[in-house]
Amino acid sequence: MGVQGCGKGTQAIMLARDYELTHISVGDIFRWNIQNHTKLAAQVRRIINEGNLVPDDVVEDVIRQRLSEHDWNYGFILDGFPRSHRQAQFFLESYDIDAVIHIDVSDEVVMERVLSRRLCSECGLDYNIIQHRPRVADQCDVCKGKLITREDDNEAAIRKRIADYHEKTAPLLDLFRHKELVIKTDGSLSPEEIQEDIRKQLRLSKAISKPEE
Ligand code: AMP
Repeated sequence: MGVQGCGKGTQAIMLARDYELTHISVGDIFRWNIQNHTKLAAQVRRIINEGNLVPDDVVEDVIRQRLSEHDWNYGFILDGFPRSHRQAQFFLESYDIDAVIHIDVSDEVVMERVLSRRLCSECGLDYNIIQHRPRVADQCDVCKGKLITREDDNEAAIRKRIADYHEKTAPLLDLFRHKELVIKTDGSLSPEEIQEDIRKQLRLSKAISKPEE
């Protein structure tokens, strides 16, 4: 968990790669639907582009359906869920949780990061035109897909998402803290440093591998 732009997706991908976890990003599922003009997309596109949260019942259906695929023998890592009290309750009642990772970073830092964020339109890998530039401009280093800006990465939508995070999502950390599930890491560090700290705190021993090219 963490405010948008804290690095949730990057850290989830790094963990999933080395521990054979299935990475489930609710935002990616919505973006896939929007790209493919599905029925679900018609329901959520405007909400997402304006930086609002999708209604809980829609999100719960997405999670339930995705987890019912049972392609997660070694477990799963959820990225961007839960984001509201109802989603957290639903999740606690339905699934076992080993840990909640809280990536802590200031609003100013994420604002700058999100505005310089680019995303591969093919494989979804995140880039940052300040800190993590692609080798060739506008092209993904891994799959050569075209890099795009997310439609919801505009200043008004980001401010809305940051405000929603503080109002609706951050208080959930207390709920998980009561259950002693939360580890907190400093999101202003480099992606590798953050990943190392997460693995240390969770007592995971594997070294961080590089993505396959
Ligand atoms: P993300 O890629 O995690 O930043 O998600 C992109 C957008 O999808 C969010 O700004 C929301 O509009 C929507 N979304 C993703 N996850 C959730 C969630 N758990 N609850 C409500 N809306 C969500």
